[in-house]
Amino acid sequence: MSSFEDFRLRKQLKNAVDDLGFVTPTPIQEQSFSVVLSGRDVLGIAQTGTGKTLGYMLPLLEELKFSKQLNPRILVLVPTRELVIQVIEEIENFTKYMSVRTIGIYGGVNIKTQSTRLLEGADIVVATPGRLYDLILNQSLIVKGLKKLVIDEVDVMLDLGFRRQITNILELLPEKRQNIMFSATMTDHVDALIDDFFVAPAKISIAVSGTPLDNISQLCYPVENFYTKVNLLKHLLSDGEQFGKVLVFVSNKKSADRLFEAIEPDFGQESCIIHSNKSQNYRIRSIEDFDAGVNRILVSTDIMSRGLDLDQITHVINFDTPGFPENYMHRIGRTGRAEKEGKTILFFTENEKELKDSIEELMDYTIPMLDFPLEVEVSKELTPEEQPDDYDLNENRNTKKVELAPGFHEKKAKNLKTNQGGSYKREIAKKYKKSQTRGDKTYHKKQKRG
Ligand code: AMP
Repeated sequence: MSSFEDFRLRKQLKNAVDDLGFVTPTPIQEQSFSVVLSGRDVLGIAQTGTGKTLGYMLPLLEELKFSKQLNPRILVLVPTRELVIQVIEEIENFTKYMSVRTIGIYGGVNIKTQSTRLLEGADIVVATPGRLYDLILNQSLIVKGLKKLVIDEVDVMLDLGFRRQITNILELLPEKRQNIMFSATMTDHVDALIDDFFVAPAKISIAVSGTPLDNISQLCYPVENFYTKVNLLKHLLSDGEQFGKVLVFVSNKKSADRLFEAIEPDFGQESCIIHSNKSQNYRIRSIEDFDAGVNRILVSTDIMSRGLDLDQITHVINFDTPGFPENYMHRIGRTGRAEKEGKTILFFTENEKELKDSIEELMDYTIPMLDFPLEVEVSKELTPEEQPDDYDLNENRNTKKVELAPGFHEKKAKNLKTNQGGSYKREIAKKYKKSQTRGDKTYHKKQKRG
């Protein structure tokens, strides 16, 4: 195993890394240091929690010479405002003994302030694509001095519908530059972007999406339905000592809201929620309260929480079984960060069993199953999506409620397919992606509007 000594870092950087208490580089840091330093284009496949931010930042900072030039030399693109803030924070930690000007750019706040700051000069800009593009167009950000481009969490970025902005931005950048891209998963879209803009990238890959981190212990419970899951969750959460900091994942906003409402009477004082329909301020406050330990429980959808750096999570609870096995990997990667132990628990219904099988297949690991606890009440209450087919159609036919039918049908079809195995999985995947994009468009509009 190597140590940071082997990197022969300049003193200011070495001292900052020492101050952070980091002794051993993580595998992604070990692999990326010399490759990034070589100036080649780089594609890194790594989940968050593997130390990838330092992985690309350390070699870039090692090389960054002091300069008074106004135009930035390093651009880091990330999908969300939360990530901008987090990456800026990390860079500030690493550069505390250096003279480096770092600026964060994101939507939802006054563009003029960001414009003025940029004109005062920057070395590193960390940005979300929408706002960045606006600032390039209005010439607040002059890109001609850019030498290094990092696109982090590119899979999330493409999921959020940022492809056009990314392409637009890339086309404006100087041709002679180094491209560094990090993605937790490889998708056709990521591949296409690389094909278009990268030159023979070096590929570094650590935790491929099917490799669970060794320090995460996994368990699962078979559970009858949504409200029985609520009862089980409440039962677990009542053990505040064990369940000290709990991140609860739910696949979609509607279920997240429904779950939050259901646990509120018992745990309202210590819970918060994030999803893309919540305002940015609300999301930031939720995350901060959770991170600081003000709230013990955070309910989140997949996309919102990917890439977040939350410390010391004791449990990740998969309230539902993700439609994409990779999302399970992302979710459980939120616990067991760096070298700490983490625990994760999956709830699955009969309908979700097949999805659980796909996850286990991907990991080549069977998640140990616990019996459903006898003391937890099995609920007979069903959500609209769980109602049997005939029920809703007959109930609602020729009544006012029929307006609800289209949404209902959509969900129903998705659930039905879940049961039918084989090639249907692909269909679910497609559907799932579609609905994600729809929601994300709204999210994106919000980002841009702000
Ligand atoms: P990241 O994957 O970049 O989000 O980093 C995950 C977490 O690991 C962050 O909280 C980092 O501060 C921390 N970290 C990064 N590198 C190291 C290291 N070499 N040793 C210990 N912790 C680290």
